[in-house]
Amino acid sequence: MTKRAPLLLLFLAAQTLSAQQPKRIFIISDAEGVAGVCRQAQTDPNDADMRALLAGEVNAAVDGFLAGGADEVIVWDGHGGSASLSAVTIHPKAKLLMGGLPATMTLDRHYAAVAFVGQHSMANVRNGIMAHSYSSLGIQNMLLNGKPVGEIETRTALAGVFGTPVILLTGDQAAVDEMRAIQPATELATVKEGIGRYTCLTLSAQAARDLIRESARKAMAKIGSIRPYRIDGPVSIQIEHTTRNSLKIDAGYAAGATVIDDRTIQFAGKDFLEAWIHYCPY
Ligand SMILES: [Zn+2]
Repeated sequence: MTKRAPLLLLFLAAQTLSAQQPKRIFIISDAEGVAGVCRQAQTDPNDADMRALLAGEVNAAVDGFLAGGADEVIVWDGHGGSASLSAVTIHPKAKLLMGGLPATMTLDRHYAAVAFVGQHSMANVRNGIMAHSYSSLGIQNMLLNGKPVGEIETRTALAGVFGTPVILLTGDQAAVDEMRAIQPATELATVKEGIGRYTCLTLSAQAARDLIRESARKAMAKIGSIRPYRIDGPVSIQIEHTTRNSLKIDAGYAAGATVIDDRTIQFAGKDFLEAWIHYCPY
């Protein structure tokens, strides 16, 4: 009892502290996982239809997070050179983060939680709508400690470095399955199903927004119960580029880099963050 009481007090103090922290949610948006986006041409950041569909889903997530108790929602426009969202159409209560990010993606600001909206699955996934890992033209394969990964797992691991959980993912069925495999407790919203790479069975924009709003509201209650996703120990990140993308002549001199073959390079680090900084896709 005498041993437990101080621990209990410490726990309660930590709980009170975390309850007092403003709840800032960081949304990372993408386009290929938005309902109604099914053709490659729609991923052009100037495509009016895609822009409206994307803004609608992002704003529905913002609405849901605010309804669930978020104090602030920051949206990083993560598609097409960060030129797919606009301050004109973004939710009036959200803030828009525009432009290229550092390797930390600003996660060192210690948000209460991260959410992926409009997410697609990693490269090579069967029936993943426009599945790719960071660059559909440039990257054939990305391996994290030998395991195929894409944006979902690498960004979830990066958030984990800073103790931040991913509480929501919205996207196609393949993206939802990928998230569930690494963080089963994350709130998931499937807005379309891939029949093939460019063939999809999609919800209407309205139905997708309603689903996302409700999922985001529910996700807020999971803050504190979803453990940040951590990858322990030394990490290697291996990038296999596509056929026409030979490595640059000096590629092997980069920090932590080992050239595997003409298109493949590996970045090593003592932990995930170090390997990630050596690679840095942004
Ligand atoms: Zn993407």
